[in-house]
Parts: sequence; structure tokens; C-alpha cells
Amino acid sequence: MTFSHLSTCSHLVHGVFPRKGGVSRPPFDSLNVGFSTGDDPAAVIENRHRILSWLQMPRAVFLNQVHGKEVLVLAGDEKIDADLFWEPGHPATRKALTADAVVTDLTQLALVIQVADCQAVMLADPEKKVIANVHSGWRGSVKNIIGQCVDVMIERFGCDPKQILAGISPSLGPCCAQFIHYQKEIPERLWQYKSQDRPYFDFWALSFDQLTARGVTPSHILNMNQCTRCRADTFFSYRKTRQTGRFACAIGLI
Ligand SMILES: [Zn+2]
Repeated sequence: MTFSHLSTCSHLVHGVFPRKGGVSRPPFDSLNVGFSTGDDPAAVIENRHRILSWLQMPRAVFLNQVHGKEVLVLAGDEKIDADLFWEPGHPATRKALTADAVVTDLTQLALVIQVADCQAVMLADPEKKVIANVHSGWRGSVKNIIGQCVDVMIERFGCDPKQILAGISPSLGPCCAQFIHYQKEIPERLWQYKSQDRPYFDFWALSFDQLTARGVTPSHILNMNQCTRCRADTFFSYRKTRQTGRFACAIGLI
């Protein structure tokens, strides 16, 4: 699955890879890219290979995602530890840095976010040729990791937020984002995103607002509007099935 506005950029590849088409057995069936799920590591490695091959990318970065606000910068003008790059043939030796967003101007490198209900928010500045991928679950929404990542694109790479294209992956929709303990978990300033009569939150709307607050043009923000819990046949959903896989959302510069 792709975003129409990112698809028009000739120097970009990207994709949301639903759960079918891999080799993992239930409950990870079948295109699980997460090692920390309990799945057979050999299956995860094969699945990751397939995604790189479909993207026609030689290497990728996978993060150790912890619902924090760390933004990893991989800049072409800096020395980078080559062990960070996940390549077919060397997967076992690769390390994953702990971060929940990654920004780069390097080509031939897929930035992959692993998802099961959280949002992957892909960002691209087509003029500056800078891309990012953000993991934003409800904790990331509260910390505004999306805004932090846009700030890094602006401050470190000189991106113009008005040029940035953004895509929100399938994730937990307002139909299913129930937070019974929201008074303890979610700050009051965000209660405007709660449904009037029940404890359901619209984190899609919050992400949209976090992007526009940093200067991203509203018409440059696309949402696939697919709820992972409603569509657990197509995507992995942690809320639907606690033991499940992670699907891949990836973007790379050619
Ligand atoms: Zn739903």
C-alpha cells in the first residue's frame, strides 16, 4: 500500500506492508518483521529480506522502538556506524539503536517502522531530499515525537515544513482507541481529542494537528484511514491479539 503524494516523487520508494506474503506461522502470520514478538528469528529475517527486495533497497534501519522521543539522525556528512545498517547476509550482527524516529538524507537506505496499532508517520521533503519515519503510539502522541522529528528536519537539514509531505499509516483508529484510564494516562490538554460521550480518542486528528502546528501544509498530510484493530485480518493489531506480529512501514531515497 502506498501514499499517492509520495508515489509521485521519483527519487523515493515507500510502502506499507500488510501482514500477508511472509513466512511466519500463526499468530505471527505471516509477514512479521519484529524480533521481539516471540516469532522464529529465521522467519523474521526472511520477511525483512522480502521487504527490502520488494522496495529494491540494499539496506535498512530498524529501530528498537520504546515509545520514547529520541530521534535518530543518519546524515551523509557524518560518520555512521555501519553496523546500524541491516543488510541481507549480515542480519544477525546488526544492532538496533533505541529511538522512535529516524531522519536521513542518505540514499539506498530504507527507514522501517514496525507497527501493530501505533502509527508510522512517513515524512519527506522532496526539495531537500530528506526523509523520516516516526513511530507514534499514544505515548508518542503525548510526547509529540512527530513534532520533534519535524523540528530535526528543519534545524538539522534545513527543510522547509511547507514542502514536507506526510503519510499516516494504518493504526488504531478513533473507532477503537479506548482509554478507560485516560484521566491518569492522557494529559488534560489532549482531552479535546476524546469523543464527547465515551473514552475514545482520535489520535489521527492529534497527529494531523501536531504536523500542522510545525508548519506542515494540511493538504500535504494523507492518512490511509485504516484501523488496524478493525482490520486485524489485514494488519497486525496488538489490541486485537496481544501475541501478534509487527508489519513494516518503510521509506527510502533512491
Ligand atoms: Zn477500529
